[in-house]
Amino acid sequence: MKGYENKIVEKEIIEMLKASGTPRSRRRWSVSMIVCCPRRAYWWKRGALWKPDDPDTLQLLFTRGKAHHGILEVYSDKEKTMIKDEVLGHYDMRGERIIEIYTTVLSSSGIIDANVAYEKFKIKVNQLMCYLYMDGTTEGDLMVFFLMGDYKPMKPQLKIFTYSFDPQELKVHWDYRLSRIEYIEERVRIGEPPEEMGEPYECINCGYRYCCVEFLKLQYNKLVVDLLDAYKKGEVIL
Ligand code: SF4
Repeated sequence: MKGYENKIVEKEIIEMLKASGTPRSRRRWSVSMIVCCPRRAYWWKRGALWKPDDPDTLQLLFTRGKAHHGILEVYSDKEKTMIKDEVLGHYDMRGERIIEIYTTVLSSSGIIDANVAYEKFKIKVNQLMCYLYMDGTTEGDLMVFFLMGDYKPMKPQLKIFTYSFDPQELKVHWDYRLSRIEYIEERVRIGEPPEEMGEPYECINCGYRYCCVEFLKLQYNKLVVDLLDAYKKGEVIL
């Protein structure tokens, strides 16, 4: 037998996956754009080019997420589009409640309850809150597919966290998100990116990182300086 790893076909398939992706629209605000890093929303609204450092790996990450979503969407009510206050929302699926799906290689071991899940997957729960508000319902599920479970041993694990909200809580959250749109559009008008960022992990695969190089240097320097300062004062133990 003779065999080899065929890099040419690998590349061809990745390119075809890229070509089959959803085109990014600059015209319409969406739920995912109003809950993510404000700087990212700013660069998107400005029409900056999406240039990830490693586009092939990013494409494979999207593909993996999309494939798992496809398999996990077991209820027939899925991928529905909603519009409220001119914002587009797209929930994953609905069983008894709207379900937001997330797949991750993070360990499930520390995610012991719905509060910890909220802290860990805040963006996803915020997204869910938007869909609930748009839908006029108050309970929803976050479904997390831990691809490697707790790594002891590696085996997939599914966890569902059900959240209930007060209608007023959802309205306050929605109004806050709408106010972020105004804020970002104003920033675009004056040509100054927001000075705050989202969750630090959002930067890892962000295609606008080249726009934020100087900003991120300052942020991370600041984090280290703050930490050392707290350490000197005995407020943290390293
Ligand atoms: S690199 Fe980070 S701070 Fe900059 S837009 Fe992307 S997620 Fe936001």
